Amino acid sequence: MVDDQVENIRMLTEILRSDYTVLFAKQGQEAVELACRHLPDLILLDIRMPGMSGHEVCQRLKAEPATRHIPIIFVTMLGEEEDEALGLAIGGVDYITKPVRPAIVRARVRVHLRLKAYQDRLEAISMTDGLTGIANRRHFDAVLAREWNRAQRFGNSLSLIMADVDHFKLYNDTYGHQAGDECLKQVAAVLSGRLMRATDLAARLGGEEFVCLVPDIPARGAMELAQGIVEAMRAAAIPHVSSLVASCVTVSIGLATLTPTADLAPAALLEMADQFLYQAKHAGRNRVVGGDPGHG
Ligand code: GH3
Ligand code: MG
Ligand code: MG
Repeated sequence: MVDDQVENIRMLTEILRSDYTVLFAKQGQEAVELACRHLPDLILLDIRMPGMSGHEVCQRLKAEPATRHIPIIFVTMLGEEEDEALGLAIGGVDYITKPVRPAIVRARVRVHLRLKAYQDRLEAISMTDGLTGIANRRHFDAVLAREWNRAQRFGNSLSLIMADVDHFKLYNDTYGHQAGDECLKQVAAVLSGRLMRATDLAARLGGEEFVCLVPDIPARGAMELAQGIVEAMRAAAIPHVSSLVASCVTVSIGLATLTPTADLAPAALLEMADQFLYQAKHAGRNRVVGGDPGHG
């Protein structure tokens, strides 16, 4: 809730606080900071304030990826049609006129919070692999692009572990497709269980192929992580009697580490990992091939 008049804040808080957690700011700049820090589900924003206006607050929040999707309801004085029109044009979802009527405020807030919940749910679904619950290809591509740019900016390395289940067709043939699905869930759990940092990401690329994106660790650390995954699969001991390389489900891993430069695209990291994976398969599976070309 953003309003330069304490009385307005008090009134709106009174209307909403039994159902919601309310945070407030009395200035535009403060409002922007509060929104960035707490990422609220909804903002009630006064338009006319000394200093930064509500319109400017809105424009700032809409310009930031982190706050772009927070719905904003403008609160205007009765008869300020131009303010309202502009507010809606720059991304506000609705407006409430002062003096506020409690029933209207409650109803509009409820509607927009419900829409926000749908929006959040859809976004989560669009990023998640339906079978395994880890990130999907689409989410991975977005994170790869972001981490690639960040690594390039700071001169950091980026490692990609590409893991493919060995003889998985034989697994399906032996245990059935449903058991195959369960197996993929376990592989996904093993992968995400090995990742420790908030910036690490495990994703299912498709089929029985997975990736882990690991920003900014030394090549040796990435190799240890990849080896750890191969060992963790052994420890998980999922029986696979038809496998030609072991008695349980194993993975082959291609590990690519590079420091992004302007003449390379993120796809280079995927291609490199894919080539190492191909080598790992041909060298006998159930192993890691790759690393940093500069450091062996
Ligand atoms: P390799 O060791 O060379 O990787 O052999 P592979 O049998 O694992 O590789 P291949 O590409 O020949 O077969 C992959 C199999 O994965 C075939 C496909 O039916 C199965 N598969 C792909 N997606 C799914 C899935 O979502 N569920 C199940 N159960 N099986 C899947
Ligand atoms: Mg396979
Ligand atoms: Mg495959």
